[in-house]
Amino acid sequence: MPERTKETEKQRQPEAGDSAEVLDLKAAADFLKVSKPTFYRWLAQGKIKGFKAGQQWRFYRRDLEKFLETEEPAAPPAAAEEAERAVEEARKARGLPSVEWNRPGELLDPSVEAEDNPIQRVVNVILASAIDRRASDIHLDASAGEVKIRYRIDGVLHEEMIIPKYVHAPLVARLKLLGDMNLAEQRLPQNGRIAVKHRGRDYDVRVFTYPAMFGEAAVLRILDQASVLIGFDKLGMSPPMRAAFERRLRANQGLIVVTGPLGCGRTTTLYSALNLLNSPQKKVATIENPVEYRLPNVMQVHVNRKAGLTFAVGVRTFRYCDPDIILVGDLEDLETAELCVQAAMTGHIVLTAMVPADAPSVITRLIEMGVEPFLVSSALSAVLAQRLLRKVCPSCRTEYKPSPDTLRRLGMSDDEIASAKFYHGAGCEECRHTGYYGRTGVFELLEVDDRLREMIARRAATAELRAAAVEGGMVTMLQDGLEKAKQGITTIEELLRVLAVGRD
Ligand SMILES: [Zn+2]
Repeated sequence: MPERTKETEKQRQPEAGDSAEVLDLKAAADFLKVSKPTFYRWLAQGKIKGFKAGQQWRFYRRDLEKFLETEEPAAPPAAAEEAERAVEEARKARGLPSVEWNRPGELLDPSVEAEDNPIQRVVNVILASAIDRRASDIHLDASAGEVKIRYRIDGVLHEEMIIPKYVHAPLVARLKLLGDMNLAEQRLPQNGRIAVKHRGRDYDVRVFTYPAMFGEAAVLRILDQASVLIGFDKLGMSPPMRAAFERRLRANQGLIVVTGPLGCGRTTTLYSALNLLNSPQKKVATIENPVEYRLPNVMQVHVNRKAGLTFAVGVRTFRYCDPDIILVGDLEDLETAELCVQAAMTGHIVLTAMVPADAPSVITRLIEMGVEPFLVSSALSAVLAQRLLRKVCPSCRTEYKPSPDTLRRLGMSDDEIASAKFYHGAGCEECRHTGYYGRTGVFELLEVDDRLREMIARRAATAELRAAAVEGGMVTMLQDGLEKAKQGITTIEELLRVLAVGRD
């Protein structure tokens, strides 16, 4: 052992000019040809890696060399000003409201640096106008000559701005800096978060960056902390379905699955369910990846794979914390599914999300994953499948006649078609000529009863389960959506778009 230690020490002994050479702070700043304050700032921002030897900072020459290679050159001030002008023009061309700069408490913390940084102002315009337009996501994609900025509004992407390519690198670098991400790493996907205040409200912005053909692409996801606890009255669930769902939620135990593709509003439904159940008499625990919204009096745990904290580990740990209600963000594998099933049979309400397109398919999926059919049949209480439909804009709502063929394909009789009234948005300023404003859910609630239990235990096919559920009174998403179209809440076209009915 002593010999080995000696050897290691010998290896650590750097020679002058060697990349393993260790420099003190002044030498390091000189090496990068910057002033000490600039060097300190880079160090604080994590751009430069160093280590502490006692009270003193030390730096490897090779780290400094790497920094020089990877550091994005800052956009020259003139280019940045020009970029700001281009973004401002794009904003005006789209008729977006202007953004008030640097008002205390508005937007990103207006540090001294932000105030005189045009790239920060570009970030502000992009974020502020996205929030003003109710966007849920911002996509930033570079091509050979330009950067396209698109907003997802009511679930649909809209191209909002095209900005010059030279803004791309400093813009992404700025977002990464704000998101507390590694600036030097450009070859791997990364994520971070930015706290934003706009017009007096707090937003949590998730930043994802990933390598793409023409430089790093970025997606910003805007989470509105205030709007999540919207509660059941705003989800768009029909009163009888809501009553049935609430009954299942308030039962003593059972597994309740909310299903649908990403972005179908599952999280909102699950949080609304937790909000309904959350009371001083109940202990609620969640394991999520990531925790999207903070809930008062709820024990929320983040999945941390690097540390070995998976969904399964979370659920297993909860057994010792004695919760009444458990939310598991994702049923990702057999182990997690089995633990959830077990918990759901031993006095817990277990809420979780899955991705199958409709409610009966969740049953088949659980069995395909390897959960014993008799366990699924006894643990599963209900499956809620859902999608989000855009709502007709109230300011330009007008009656119209969809094609009778389409309506027939949706199962309407000729008599019904003759008497039914349908509405769509003609297009106005309010909805920016899309005809839609806001979204509502369409749902199908499968309640597991004795008949279904028996069928699940003997591995009945999905189609058979669906037929039995409908016979037992399940309203399908299509029927629920058609009802909403008849009420003038949404359009037939939107229903077809989202549920992909009658397409090949
Ligand atoms: Zn309108």
